[in-house]
Amino acid sequence: MYNYTTDQLQDLDSKHYLHPFTDHKKLADERSRIITRADGIYLWDSDGNRYLDAMAGLWCVNVGYGREEIAEAVNQQIRELPYYNSFFKTAHPPAIELSRLVCSLAPAHLNRVFFTGSGSEANDTVVRMVRFYWSLKGLPDKKLIISRHNAYHGSTVAAASLGGMQTMHAQGGLPIPDIDYIGQPYWYQDGGDLFPEEFGEKVADELEQKILELGVDNVAAFIGEPIQGAGGVIIPPSTYWPRIQSICDKYQILLVADEVICGFGRTGKWFGSDYYEIKPDLMSIAKGLSSGYVPIGGVLVSDEVASVLIEEGGEFNHGFTYSGHPVAAAAAIANLNILRDEGLVDRVDTETAPYIAEKWQQLTSHALVGEARIVGLIGALELVKDKTTRQFFDDRGAVGTLCRDICFDSGLVMRAIEDTMVISPPLCITREEIDELINLVIRCLDQTAKQIQ
Ligand SMILES: *Cc1c(COP(=O)(O)O)cnc(C)c1O
Repeated sequence: MYNYTTDQLQDLDSKHYLHPFTDHKKLADERSRIITRADGIYLWDSDGNRYLDAMAGLWCVNVGYGREEIAEAVNQQIRELPYYNSFFKTAHPPAIELSRLVCSLAPAHLNRVFFTGSGSEANDTVVRMVRFYWSLKGLPDKKLIISRHNAYHGSTVAAASLGGMQTMHAQGGLPIPDIDYIGQPYWYQDGGDLFPEEFGEKVADELEQKILELGVDNVAAFIGEPIQGAGGVIIPPSTYWPRIQSICDKYQILLVADEVICGFGRTGKWFGSDYYEIKPDLMSIAKGLSSGYVPIGGVLVSDEVASVLIEEGGEFNHGFTYSGHPVAAAAAIANLNILRDEGLVDRVDTETAPYIAEKWQQLTSHALVGEARIVGLIGALELVKDKTTRQFFDDRGAVGTLCRDICFDSGLVMRAIEDTMVISPPLCITREEIDELINLVIRCLDQTAKQIQ
């Protein structure tokens, strides 16, 4: 679309464009791969190379690329009403219809939604809503939010603080006050001699210890991703979420599910909370809400929390210029209609998830793979030095990066989080495409093994 050669694009990129989460000095030597178009589960770069996108962009293109219905909805909405806000007693049809639709898909007790421009803004909104809720209940000291080490909740100041990424906290004086952390349910790394189920209960019990340590009168909420995404697709043992739920119930603190990745079908259910049968008071959403076609996020609010905010709260002094943006809302509506009308979420649950799970498990026979875990269409492979002792490589991250680069050069987009290779393909992926994905993964693992010998 723009009249540049690949070389020119790479030059201009390195001169002007600051990328997210990027070491620009390194990138200047290696240069960017320029992605120019996409269709279904495939991407093409400016040199015409094709890639199978096993990450659905950044965990978000749930319906796959190239859906005309979304393009058409966006086109029509831009022509009819490209922008209006909902600040001063106004609203517009797309934001209203999207609210109705999202609430109809969400767990039954969540019937109100606040829209944002992203998942980070959704989690910023969570911080403010949770604290406002407790102050309205006459408990203004209940403002501590408990999160987990290695959680990812976004990149704004509050969202990065909610997250448990040390590397993010180290830059810019984070976290903000009144956020605390417990361990993550990462059995493969931290489980020691315990069975996964025992370990799940043990790390969940850290929540109770933390609440008692901080004082229940000071604790507002617990936040967690049903499955940690950016942390390395940490799939908790089956005992973990039931125990977390019962601790939140026991001490009456709010449970916040960050569904930015798990929401909209990733696990084979509409939400990760459905998959784990938990009942969150608030749910952050983004990514799959619009399949990434246009940025939009939001917070779903339970009837109980909404009634306090609405009946007692007066004006909530919070909102974004683009809250409920009509074009983003139109894209999200078209996206959710595709997911629902084509039965994509059910298809993941009953057909493609079981199909890929069997093949994924077989990857553990590979010399490099210590564990292969997957739920729905989100999975991980642990590349390790010694499978029998669950020992990681000494220079943690080097093998993962090598494998990721080999994947890219072989036409496969798979992400490395240290030495954990992760996938999160579009939900429209077919059995044949899963076969192709698995074959590519095997080829790349072989090549990685060869290169580190
Ligand atoms: C991506 C992500 C976010 C942040 O969303 P942005 O749209 O990038 O701001 C928050 N939580 C989780 C679990 C995410 O994966």
